[in-house]
Formats: sequence, structure tokens, C-alpha cells
Amino acid sequence: MKKMGWSCVFITSKSCSKVRQVAFSGWTLLLFTVISILGLVGMARLVSTGTTIAVAKFGVYEARRENDGLLSKMKFLSRFIAKEAEKIEKLVEFEDGKRLQYGLNKISSDVRLAGVGGLPENGEEMLTTLLDPVLMRAEAVKESIVVLLRRAELQDSTLSQMTSCVKQLHRQWSQRPSIWPANGRITSPFGYRFHPITKANVFHEGIDLANKTGTPVYATADGIVASVGNRDNYGRVIILKHLQYKCETVYAHLHQFNVKKNQEVKRGDLIGYMGSSGRSTGPHLHYEVRTQGRTVNPLSYILPTDAIVD
Ligand SMILES: [Zn+2]
Repeated sequence: MKKMGWSCVFITSKSCSKVRQVAFSGWTLLLFTVISILGLVGMARLVSTGTTIAVAKFGVYEARRENDGLLSKMKFLSRFIAKEAEKIEKLVEFEDGKRLQYGLNKISSDVRLAGVGGLPENGEEMLTTLLDPVLMRAEAVKESIVVLLRRAELQDSTLSQMTSCVKQLHRQWSQRPSIWPANGRITSPFGYRFHPITKANVFHEGIDLANKTGTPVYATADGIVASVGNRDNYGRVIILKHLQYKCETVYAHLHQFNVKKNQEVKRGDLIGYMGSSGRSTGPHLHYEVRTQGRTVNPLSYILPTDAIVD
């Protein structure tokens, strides 16, 4: 085996010109070299580990900052959802009130809340969501938005349906013969009576309102003029059709007309003037309401003058 020899190291400095000579054995020099290398490797590892920790800390910081930002956005969304939900609740109250006012069926809360979603159906996805508070919150916000949208769609649909029903009711009500056709006193009611001309007990198909010749006669509901002309006993007569309410009104013994056939009229329009044409003993209006092919008592349709019809 080859023996390790001696090595010399010369040490000098800038300040003095002395040169020192130190002698090391070969083993010592080898040991020193190994220790130096191990030291360098250790240092390198320390630097690497430190850098890794610093990067990881920065990553955690960034993740937290991102989470804080997401939570802040979700809080904003939650407040927005709550406000929109309140608006829908107010619309529901408004609709319920209107449905009650117009005698329409109320939409039950079961129908309004039907189809509300839940957590994710996939088990793995659900577990991931449940373990992460941010995801859990995000899921809750998402569900709230889904519910909100569904309720908004349903609200839109029920309100449209209610509006359509109310419009139809308004059309029907506007064609209901609900006001007095003229000023005057009732000289003959609806039903059996002793006829002043025939002297017989016969059925009177309408009511008679007596007043001066030329007293204005009004349409008692919206409708269309179906007929204007002379008819034996009725004299000068106007017949109005009220299709939406499925009835007709008759204004007989007139002195003069103020409408033409097929003309549209509104409730309260002046259609003619009271007279004594036809079989009549004096100026009066004979007023009839006909529905489903038969006459009915007009007084049962006339509303009190202080009644509100909207
Ligand atoms: Zn009469």
C-alpha cells in the first residue's frame, strides 16, 4: 500500500512580506477536504430548504388572500340574493292581495317552493364540498342563486297568468249592464203586472222609467249596437250586444236615436232620447236585460251609485 506523504502550505499576507510554511500530513489534508465538501453540501441544502419554505409560505399567503377575496365576493352575492329574495316576497304579497280582490285562486306555498335544489348529487364531489368551508359556502351561494332564479321565473309566470285573468274579468265587468239607463221613476217593475192598455195580467219583460220626452238614455255597459229601428210594440228601439258578458240590453219607446248599427259604445254613452213611440201611454223608457235567450230583472244588475267598479 502506498504511504500518504506530507504536503506544505505557504501562508502569506499583503501587510507583511513574511511567508509562513505549514506542513500537513496527507490524511489531514484529505479530512479537511472532506469536511469542507460536507459543509458546502450542508449549506446548499439549508439554502434550498429555506427557499422551499419561503416559496411555500408565499403560496399559503397568496391562497389565503385569494380565499379572502372569494369570501368577500360571496358575502356580496349573499347580500344581493337576500335583497332580491325580499323583492320576490313583496311581489308574492302583492299577487296574493290581487288574487283575493278578484276572487282568483291563491298559489300555494308548496307550488312556489317546488323544485328547490340541494347539495351536489355526486358523492365524491359532495365530500370535497363538505370538507372545504369555502366550497361549502360557494355551494350554498350557488344553490341560493338557483332557488332565486326559479322563484323569479315562477313569479313571472303566475303574475302573467293573473294579469291575463284580471284583464278578462275587466272586459267582462265593463260589459255588465250595471248603471241606470236614464233618470226617471219606476212606473212598472219586472214581472207580472196589470197591463194599462190590454187590461190583462201579463208578464212585463223589463222595467219602465218615466220622465219627460227628450230625457237622455245611456248605454248601461260597453258593447256594440246590434240593432236600431222601429218594432211594433217597442216603437223606436235600440238593442246593444255585450258579448263578453253574454247578454243584450234593450231601450224601447225612444223619441230619437244617437247611435248607428254596429257602432261600439262605452258604458255611460248617450245612445238616444226618451219618448213614447210604439205601444205606450206616455213618455218613458222600457229597459230590458236579456241573457241566454230570456229576459231577467234589470234591477239585479244595477249597482248602487256609490259602488266602485274598476
Ligand atoms: Zn215596459
